[in-house]
This record gives sequence, structure tokens and C-alpha cells, in this order.
Amino acid sequence: MSLGQPLSPRVLNPPASLGVIGGGQLGRMFLQAAQRLGFRGGVLSAIEGSPADQIAHWSVIGPPGHLPALRAFAEKAEGVTVEFENVSAPALRWLAREGKVVRPGWRTLWVSQNRLREKTFLRRYEIPHAPWRPVLSAHDLDGLVPALGLPLILKTAASGYDGKGQVRLDRAGDLESAWASLGHAACVAEGWVQFAAEVSVVVARGADGRSVAYPVGLNHHERHILDTTVMPAPVGPIVSQDARNLALGVAEALGTVGVLTVEFFLTAEGRLLVNELAPRPHNSGHLTIEAAVTSQFEQQVRCLCGLPLGHSDLVRPAAMVNLLGDLWSRGEPDWAAALRHDPGAKLHLYGKRTPAPGRKMGHITVIDPDPDTALARARAARAALVTGRA
Ligand code: ATP
Ligand code: MG
Repeated sequence: MSLGQPLSPRVLNPPASLGVIGGGQLGRMFLQAAQRLGFRGGVLSAIEGSPADQIAHWSVIGPPGHLPALRAFAEKAEGVTVEFENVSAPALRWLAREGKVVRPGWRTLWVSQNRLREKTFLRRYEIPHAPWRPVLSAHDLDGLVPALGLPLILKTAASGYDGKGQVRLDRAGDLESAWASLGHAACVAEGWVQFAAEVSVVVARGADGRSVAYPVGLNHHERHILDTTVMPAPVGPIVSQDARNLALGVAEALGTVGVLTVEFFLTAEGRLLVNELAPRPHNSGHLTIEAAVTSQFEQQVRCLCGLPLGHSDLVRPAAMVNLLGDLWSRGEPDWAAALRHDPGAKLHLYGKRTPAPGRKMGHITVIDPDPDTALARARAARAALVTGRA
């Protein structure tokens, strides 16, 4: 049994009008894929000039939970998807009641937008994950260290990303102040996982219930922000198969229709623990634009429209490096230097006007028969952005 929406055969064909809620880079890349397939693509964006607004066929500017904005959006979109999980579930329910095709459905978002519900879901379906306890009151702090050991990590249940809303604790005496620093918000406390690597699997589950998994991606974070991804991850066939099966199982148990990403910790003994779920394309899947037969964004379009899914095989191994706002600290990066350095490097910029430290401004992908070489080349192209300028 799964939590999901009933599978519906409704199909949207080009040039139907598809709308994405959220104006960031994920919305932008969804629209690029939709437009390439001949759809009209629009966005509900909180601000004008956002990455998705810049390229949309139509835009509605307004907050995603706001009824007038939703009404205007519903008038233009036949099919609706999301670029981030913090879209209100009632808003998605309302759009579905208005007769829109909404994929993923509100239940998927409801589970994945709150860490307490997400962990409860993982436990209910016996999907391996790190030990955790809910923290809803000061009383809940008492049993944490005996149950989870030290270090442990406190994460707000709602609205965290890129490591925001998280505190690591090394001493039991710091529990009170750590929870206070998170505003006494509802939290999940997690045991620290001594992982050997972090990996992720992007899957797509179509409206007919069929699903596909991409190869495993190996992710490296800096300051809790994704820095690089290499695909396929050098984890061997058994771990790779386990990770992909677990991710497919999560999509099935959720009953989601759409793209879903599962982030894992991989321990030194080869155990996989689910870290978190993202009910959408993921930063670690951006390299599928160049490296796979079908990109994660095209799968998102196909899922939304009830069209058959495309092959998820890689044409070539690949690596992706993120371009954060820090690269602008001494002025505009030297784009020509990076492209000159490696004519195989593919540059993606999201059109964000204000660089800030830690802000994702773009990425570079390199495909290469050897995944390690792909990573070295992508890193070198990124380095050329600043050394070329010196
Ligand atoms: P994002 O949205 O960017 O994926 P997030 O803010 O939702 O991040 P998590 O994925 O939960 O947060 O954590 C961010 C990173 O912090 C993880 O990728 C991992 O490197 C580290 N981390 C989180 N939880 C643990 C844990 N229990 N043990 C060890 N490291 C952890
Ligand atoms: Mg994460």
C-alpha cells in the first residue's frame, strides 16, 4: 500500500500550457525542458526577474500560497508541478480541485516538506535511516543523548535547505542553547552518521506507475552545500543496485508521480541510510542534461504530462561542479577563460543578478569516459574562472 494519489491516465500533449511553482534555477531548467518538447511553460514566481521568470512564456508574480496569485496561475496552467517542496499542500489540493493536473500530488509534498513526517514515513516503510527522535518540547531534550549518543544533530522540522536550520552538538550541556538558537521550533534530533560518502539517486515515476532510476551520484559537500557530483559513483555494483532499488521503493511507497531524489549516507561497511527526500529534480542530477539519454527535467515534464518516461541511462560518465556566489568575491568571473581552458566544459548560469556567498549561481558539467577525469576537468574549468581573471 502506498500513500499516493490514485494513478490517473490524463495526458497533456504539446503545446499544452505547463506551470511550475517556484522561480529558481530548478524551475528555469524545467521550463527549458518543457519548451524544448513544444509545451508552453510558465511560472508562479515570488519575485519578478527570477531565473524562471526570465525565460517563461508567461509568469504570475505572487506568493505561492496566496489565493489571488493561485487563481491567476490556475487560469494559465493546465498542468502544475513544483520546483521546491515547501509549497503549501492546501494550495496544491485547491489546484487539483480546479481540474488541473498536479504532479507530484499534495501528499508527496506533505510528507517531504517536514522532517518529522518524512522520518515517520521512512520508519513506517522500514526504509533504513539514521536513528532519530522528535523534539517538540524541552522535556524531549532529556532522553536524546542516551538514545542517540554524541555528536548529534538538531534540524528544524520545516523549511531547512543547504544546511540551514541545523546545529551539531558535541556536548550534552549544549542541548538547551542549541534548541534555543533554532527558536524552540519543532525539530528532529539525529544521531551523527560517520559516513564514508554521500550518494544520491534520482528516480522518475510516471503516471502509469512505471519508474526509472538514474545511476548513483557521488556527492561532495562544502560547508553543507553541494559542491561536486560524479556519476556513476564508484561504489560497486551491489551498493549501486541497493541504492537504486531503495530509491525506487521510496517512490513507490510514497505513490508519487514525478521526479524524486533520495539522498543517502554510505557507511564504511557499505550500509546505505536515507538522509532525506526531495520530491523533484535535484542539484546532483543537473549533469543528466548532458550525460543522460533523458535529463531529470525532461522526465519531470514527461511525468507531469502522463507521457512515457525516457531512458535514464548515461551516454557518458560526467561530473558537475557548482558555481557559488563566492566566485564573484573579486568581481565578475572570467567566463571565457573557463571555456577556453576546456572546450568540453558546459556552462550553465541561472541569471541571478546578485551573487552572495553560498548562493548557487550556476554550474559546470563535463562528460568524459573516465568519471575521475570528468571531475578533475570540471574543477579545473571552475578554477580557471578566477585564475584567468588574476
Ligand atoms: P540540502 O537541502 O542542501 O540537501 P539540508 O539543509 O536539507 O540540505 P541535510 O541534507 O539534512 O540538510 O544535511 C546537509 C548535510 O549535513 C548533509 O548532506 C551531510 O553532509 C550533513 N549531515 C546531515 N545530517 C547528518 C548526520 N546525521 N550525520 C552526519 N552528517 C550529517
Ligand atoms: Mg540534503
